Amino acid sequence: MQKNILTKRTKIVATIGPASESQQTLEKMMRAGLNVARFNFSHGTYDWHKSVIANVKNAAQQVGVSVAVLADLQGPRIRTKIKNDIVIKKGDIVRLCDITTDAEYKRHLEKDYTVITIDCAHMIEHLSIGDSVLIEDGLMSMKVIDLTDTHAVMEVLAGGTVKNHKGVNIPDAEIPLPTMTQKDLTDLEFALSQGVDYVALSFVRRAQDIVDLRRYMQKILGKDAHLPKIIAKIERKEALTNLTAILGAVDAVMVARGDLGIEADPARVTLYQKDIIAKSLKHLRPVIVATQMLASMEHNPRPTRAEIADVTNAVIDKADATMLSAESTVGKYPVETIRTMATIAIETEASSYDDPDEALTVNRSNDEIRVARGAYEFAREMDAKAIVMYSESGYTARLLSHFRPQRMIFVGTTNLRTYHQLALVWGVTPFLCDADESRRNCIDELIDHAQKRGLLVKGDLVVSVVGSTQSGKQLELLGTKII
Ligand code: PEP
Repeated sequence: MQKNILTKRTKIVATIGPASESQQTLEKMMRAGLNVARFNFSHGTYDWHKSVIANVKNAAQQVGVSVAVLADLQGPRIRTKIKNDIVIKKGDIVRLCDITTDAEYKRHLEKDYTVITIDCAHMIEHLSIGDSVLIEDGLMSMKVIDLTDTHAVMEVLAGGTVKNHKGVNIPDAEIPLPTMTQKDLTDLEFALSQGVDYVALSFVRRAQDIVDLRRYMQKILGKDAHLPKIIAKIERKEALTNLTAILGAVDAVMVARGDLGIEADPARVTLYQKDIIAKSLKHLRPVIVATQMLASMEHNPRPTRAEIADVTNAVIDKADATMLSAESTVGKYPVETIRTMATIAIETEASSYDDPDEALTVNRSNDEIRVARGAYEFAREMDAKAIVMYSESGYTARLLSHFRPQRMIFVGTTNLRTYHQLALVWGVTPFLCDADESRRNCIDELIDHAQKRGLLVKGDLVVSVVGSTQSGKQLELLGTKII
């Protein structure tokens, strides 16, 4: 039997697709532990996204939980652009064109050459001899052995069947595309019109990419709007090099292991993951571990033991969230996969491997951080059952979560955006208070709510905090209360 899902501290992000699009399935996934619904804008029409985002919102209301909506922008993804499938074998010599050189090359083409065209203009100009070109998650790989103005000559190192519109990675070359492509801008405008809570940007290279995305959002929504939070997907080598600056600019990060394992050394992916988690936590940024966590559950009702170990380790390393992709978009067992991931998280969190004596460290200090740390230490000293907090923007709640308290964290807010955004944050159970409620009444209502859900019982000791706006106004540590 699954334990009370509301006690789970590590959050679950699931990518939504045909296997999970119905309101009924989404409700089941939420009851099993889903916290964030991810929409991958590499796929699907706007009509589909619109109707399924509505299903997520209806399902969350029905189940009575906060679920954030995450729009994942494709970024500068290169794809194959071919008419028919092409079979390539190890040792074959093939030609690579881009959409600027394709027509010119084909005019002079000797008939029996195999030509693979990619949809990125001017890519051939940026290649060098020795560069690797990988297709479809790196299943097929080739090496550039010669270059002309119109094409690259490549030797096939690993063969297969090249299909149209498959992802292409060229890890060592500069990609002549902006991090926000025209498609991303159009998708962003649509996503913002749907009121999404998070926007993830793929193939981030530097902090400026995040600054630019935030500026686009401000242009569309207005300077004073409560913007969706930005997630930087770490999957390029440049992002690893520039990680500290990116963490300074972004709201959260995703360890996008699928592309990271192609763009960088796959043998080091788990080490990169550990580094990215540790650095994100130091910078107070929520961090998601993504891709193939329970991959075999796309087809099977039970995970492999290695997959269980993967989720367990991400929980022990204190990631805010673990993520599902194909398992929940096209898999046969979307609900069971969430339930499995939630159960592994709950078991791990209850184990001695997940019991730090020390709070996580912080790389800076201000009044809010001191109050959050004070609440954490006070609750620990008093052996309180929970910390209950009012938070307007979610800032103080995120700070408190950062210390990874072993007690439950209930956060009330009157701000709908904050209510949804906190769904991703480790250990936080968000609660929406009535808009005209005072902050203290909101805390009382929250305690009441937690009792109704069986999370607190009469006699429990709680520590309460009224959080601040980012300007530091109205910050109070209210003390303890026996309910
Ligand atoms: C990844 O590469 O791991 C990832 C999450 O990105 P996407 O699913 O967009 O390829």
